[in-house]
Amino acid sequence: MADDVVTMDKIVSLCKRRGFVFPSSEIYGGLGSSYDYGHYGVLLKNNVKEQWWKAMLQKRDDIVALDSAIIQHPRTWEASGHLAGFTDPLVDCRTCKLRFRADHLDQVQCGRKPSRRPGEAPDCDLTESRAFNLMFETTVGPVQEEGATVYLRPETAQGIFLNFRNYLQFSRKRPPFGIAQIGKSFRNEITTGNFIFRMREFEQMEMEYFVPPAEAQRWFEHWLSERMRWYLRLGIRPDHLRLRPHTTEELSHYSSATSDVEYLFPIGWSELEGIANRGDFDLTQHAKFSGQKLEYVDTATGERYVPHVIEPASGVDRCALAFLVDGYDEDEIESEMRTVLRLHPLLSPVKVAVLPLVRKDGQPELARSVYGEVRDRVQAEYDEGGAIGRRYRRQDEIGTPWAVTIDHQSLEDQTVTLRDRDTLAQHRVAIDALGDELERRLRAPWQSPKLQPSGRT
Ligand code: ATP
Repeated sequence: MADDVVTMDKIVSLCKRRGFVFPSSEIYGGLGSSYDYGHYGVLLKNNVKEQWWKAMLQKRDDIVALDSAIIQHPRTWEASGHLAGFTDPLVDCRTCKLRFRADHLDQVQCGRKPSRRPGEAPDCDLTESRAFNLMFETTVGPVQEEGATVYLRPETAQGIFLNFRNYLQFSRKRPPFGIAQIGKSFRNEITTGNFIFRMREFEQMEMEYFVPPAEAQRWFEHWLSERMRWYLRLGIRPDHLRLRPHTTEELSHYSSATSDVEYLFPIGWSELEGIANRGDFDLTQHAKFSGQKLEYVDTATGERYVPHVIEPASGVDRCALAFLVDGYDEDEIESEMRTVLRLHPLLSPVKVAVLPLVRKDGQPELARSVYGEVRDRVQAEYDEGGAIGRRYRRQDEIGTPWAVTIDHQSLEDQTVTLRDRDTLAQHRVAIDALGDELERRLRAPWQSPKLQPSGRT
């Protein structure tokens, strides 16, 4: 395997330079752990979400979609246990006035002595740790009065449990079946940093899979392997991905088994997704707090039970970061360094760039008409400014897998060259056949070229 040249700093700088991610509110000095996605970041995230929906909905017939409200009835969070227990242990330093997560002290830096950990310097003065609730509170209605306090959801999952009855009625599903949702979640995280890995406002992709209690373990194992396959199919290098079962001490009170899908980020192995066997905890709690029956009744046999739930819960932003990190590469072409994002083509923000070799002799006109045709089929970009080498480099940096170049021969025989980002191979293709060829390549299996350095040209 090639030496991995990627660092978090290189990713942050590429993301800013090429319009993937910007610090939020930058003109006011930024806001901790908030980021804005630029054009290519939006396209990348859309592709991640599209692939998730595809795996959850399009390729199965046992899962249905939901988009629930961000602000839900406040009893939701009493029932789920978030109001009492969604806390992190917090310590303050009386000397440097910074706050730290007590369980992250070995990963962060002291405010006054950047080379040391909090508590290491003689004048560090840390308080006892206390529980800090991560939910953002706000008020519904014009008057700030009791009973109007609500919370921005810290996870999307609870919206699914609140709709369980609706789904039993309208979707005509019976366990095993799932409800999937993608949406924003909010957590007032104490330890920030690490770019989009940990934000206060982020997007989750969660699916709750309701099963007969006796089948819970089997489905838990099913989802462990399904989710691992999803990341691998999208090109994550197998030696950078692992499943880590939670220890008994780590398990949430409601879970009998949880495994994290972890990726080897430049900051070390870290969670990408949690897959949990939640038992009947959530439905039972919401039934208790709402007074409604939340169970499945088989009308034919009269059998009734509270389904158990298997939950794969992933983050769009962490996935996007993992794909960026896994794809980032540097190589040398004609003694010039190039930075290239070797993204799976299905995830690349732009699939094809259409480039006239020169800005004259009818080439831009033909290139524009080719662009008009391919953009109907795939996300495309037209660029006629500057030297062709510079235009290729720009596309390499945003991860565009193919570039179509229109040259003098194109005007004579209606063919173009199709350049491959990873192999740098160029093939001549008839303009008529271009759309089909791009779609064929897009559907073909793909493996990270970082796994096979000898394949590079
Ligand atoms: P961590 O231990 O890193 O705080 P978690 O175990 O609390 O994460 P879950 O509650 O299991 O996370 O949430 C499911 C997924 O949502 C995570 O695997 C991650 O991809 C994403 N996620 C959670 N918190 C954040 C955050 N602050 N910023 C970005 N993504 C997040």
